[in-house]
Order: sequence, then C-alpha cells, then structure tokens
Amino acid sequence: LLEQAPRLPGKPRHKTREVRIGSVVIGGNHPIAVQSMTTTDTHDVEATVQQIQALEAAGCELVRVTVPKPEDAHALTRIRERIGIPLICDIHFDYKMALAALDHPIDKIRINPGNIGGPERFRQVVRKAKSRGIPMRIGVNAGSLERDLCEKYGFPCPPAMVESALRYIEMAEEEGYHDIVVSLKSSDVLVAVEAYRLYAQLADYPTHIGITEAGKPPYAVTKSAAGLAPLLLDGIGDTIRVSLLGDPVPEIAAAFDILQATQRRVRRPELIACPTCGRLAIDLEKIVAELEKRLQGKRLPVKISVLGCVVNGPGEAREADIGIAAGNGKGMIFRNGEIIRRVEEAEIVDALMEEIARWEQENQHR
Ligand code: SF4
Repeated sequence: LLEQAPRLPGKPRHKTREVRIGSVVIGGNHPIAVQSMTTTDTHDVEATVQQIQALEAAGCELVRVTVPKPEDAHALTRIRERIGIPLICDIHFDYKMALAALDHPIDKIRINPGNIGGPERFRQVVRKAKSRGIPMRIGVNAGSLERDLCEKYGFPCPPAMVESALRYIEMAEEEGYHDIVVSLKSSDVLVAVEAYRLYAQLADYPTHIGITEAGKPPYAVTKSAAGLAPLLLDGIGDTIRVSLLGDPVPEIAAAFDILQATQRRVRRPELIACPTCGRLAIDLEKIVAELEKRLQGKRLPVKISVLGCVVNGPGEAREADIGIAAGNGKGMIFRNGEIIRRVEEAEIVDALMEEIARWEQENQHR
C-alpha cells in the first residue's frame, strides 16, 4: 500500500468548462476566484458602492448584490459604473426581478431554482440571459429544494440537491444556454460536501462552493474551512465564498486563507511557526510578529519555517524553502535543507528577510 501511495499530495482540479463573468473567467485552469456579497440595501447606491469598494480593497474578485425590489434593479447600472469588479445579481422568488436585472449591464445572475416559480419562469430568465450574453449560477439550496424532490428523497439530501441542479441544467441546455455555474449549498457541512462530490461525478459546469449560513466568526470561519477544504483538496470549486454574519469584508481574508492552506491558490509566503513549548530557546512570538509585519503585502509563494528549538527545528526547517531553528539565543538558517548561516537572536529577522529577498530574486519567473 505504501509503495502504491502517491508521493506528492494534491489531486488535479475537477475539469470544468470556462465561464466568463465580466473581466473574470472561472473554471478550467483559472484561479479559484474569491467572492462576497453586500449587506446593504442595493437601492442605496452610495452605501452599496462603498461596501463594494471596501471589498475590492480587501481583494474581492466578484461581488453579489441582492435584487428583491424594482428600485434595487434600477440602481444596478449606477452601481456597475462605479465599481471595478464584476457585479452579480442574486434573485429569489420573483423571476420578474431577474428579468429586470438583466436589463442592466450586470455580469452574472444567480437564480435559486427551488423558489423562482417553476420551469417556465426559469426558462424565460434563461432565454433573456442568453440573449444578453450573461452567465447564470443555478444556486441550489438545501433549505429551499423543490417539493417533489423533498418528497421523492424524504429530505433535502445530497442526491436530491444534485437532481435539482441537473434538472435545471438540462432545461437551460434545451434553450441552447451553457454559461452556467452551479452551487449546492447547505448549512450542514456533510450534506454540502457530499452534494458537490456527487455533482462533480456527473457534470462539468464550474462550481461556486461555500457553506451557507455559517454564522458568526470565529466558528463560522472554522465551519467554512471544514466544508471547503475537503472539496478544494478533491479539486472541486472554481469560485469560493465564506459566508460570515455581519460585515462581509473579513470574508475575503478568510477565503484567501483557506485557498492558501489547501495550496489551491498560494499568493503569499507560508509562515510555519511552532506552537512553542517548554523547550523554547528564543522569543519566537516576537520574531514571528516582526516577520509577519515585514512580509505584509508580499506576493511570494515561499515557505518559511520558524522553529523555537533544535529538537524538531532542523528537521522541519529542511522541509521549507527557508527556515530557522533556534538554540541558545542563536539561529541556524536553512535553505533547501542546508544550514547556510548561524546568527544571533537579534539578527534572526534581518537574516531571514535577506534570504527571502535572495529567494525572490532567484525565483522571479517561477
Ligand atoms: Fe517546542 Fe521546539 Fe517543537 Fe517549538 S520546535 S514546539 S520549541 S519542541
């Protein structure tokens, strides 16, 4: 068994079609895009634009707004003009709101097939989206699954959710429409993960993944990570949202952290630091805090290991691109498994930063 096991971890990504959402393409080999949703009244253009700009500044790549009333639809063009990322409209219950939103220069529409008023209304929205060249997310939600599927399966289980998605995909395809993204959300991590896994065996439209109604941080971040990580490690997911109660801006950092930890989108240095224990030989917390500060904003996929003593230190430090293992107020600096320098504790951060700059130069075109 050990002989047959893969030496390098990481499954390939689920092969999905490419779908263009304004300036961002998802699916295929495109980076997994991070998205969020505003909490303002969409018709309050000023507040909505302000929140979207705050999300953009945090790194958000796609933004969704709700469109429950005609005045919200009327505001869409004015919002779109003032933001730099693609605008997605989220529609529940009233297909007329979907048709109204599609009169504006939006970049994608999200429909919940379970509550849009039946197949004929769904088809009308599809036909208009097709004629306007706008993609659509078929956003199945366990909490609002069609009644016949709940009756057939007994409860909104993963197969029921996937059947719902496939049913609406088929209708869209019958209309000659293929600009589709799919989500299968549940507030139950196990249900969501199994639904996406099942879907990935049956269809190839890109997926928007997330755990809905995750609640309040910090538990909501942990719960989202618990659901998103198995999917990302399986290669599933083309765009991601971490749903947090309240201000959406922290959703962005949480999403990028999950992508970083699962190595699906590494955009910054990975800082590996030991938890410290009674063997600690240097002031590790101070060193890590200083390093974090000096690495802020650096877009380098370098792995840096900072370990507080020589027991596990050298072994772990060898696994990283650059590492340090401390002992008796000194630090041994490693590069690719070789000790290259020994420095005093006070010089550790400077020495690491010098090595990181050297690594950056050598790996500029990586
Ligand atoms: Fe403790 Fe050393 Fe391990 Fe850090 S590296 S947790 S100090 S044994």
